[in-house]
Amino acid sequence: MGLPRQILLLGPPGAGKGTHAKRLGRHLDVASCSTGSVLRLEESRKTELGARIHRYLKEGNFVPDDLVLEIVCNWLRSVDAEFVLDGFPRTLPQGDALDRFLSETQRPAATAVYLDVPLSLLEQRVANRVGCDPCSNVWSRSQAPGHCPDCGGAVSPRGDDSVELYRARFAEYQRKTLPLLPHYEDNKRLRRICGQGSPETVFQRILTALDS
Ligand code: AMP
Repeated sequence: MGLPRQILLLGPPGAGKGTHAKRLGRHLDVASCSTGSVLRLEESRKTELGARIHRYLKEGNFVPDDLVLEIVCNWLRSVDAEFVLDGFPRTLPQGDALDRFLSETQRPAATAVYLDVPLSLLEQRVANRVGCDPCSNVWSRSQAPGHCPDCGGAVSPRGDDSVELYRARFAEYQRKTLPLLPHYEDNKRLRRICGQGSPETVFQRILTALDS
């Protein structure tokens, strides 16, 4: 039957969703979208939407469901029936709305990959990571000393990776995203992956789990 081709990457901030979503997209040759990157881009461009979401990002809070849903549904309409979504859904109403959207547009239901990483490791990773502005790749400081190994762009720490903001984001995740797991588990659409280890090891685990 092959691997599913409608995939959601779920997990706490710093779990590696962005890295693996991009890689899965390339591996399956399907489009991938990170809601966090789209929101940060809107914020930096100071668009009307950017102005509306600024305070949520600044405080480490989730952006309201209606705004995120509009962005994601527009993106899904622009791609074929196959996709990898990074960081969406993050709340139960987002999960319900996605199910409805896929069913109304006669697309297959999505499979969720949950990256499980302990908080102590997440905090270390986040304290150590930098992002590339032009291509939005994420690296550890040692992998990208000053510039992005992929595109050569300047790298810098993300504003919302400070210890204080990270904790606020993690609390939002615990309160609003964790309740989504039973939603996918009950429908046998959840693959739980241990997110510890090298990116290569974790990626292989993801492929194996999607194949099962
Ligand atoms: P990320 O890059 O996935 O860590 O997302 C960065 C920030 O964007 C999050 O802390 C949220 O404020 C916001 N965000 C990203 N995706 C969503 C979503 N699906 N729902 C609400 N807020 C989101």
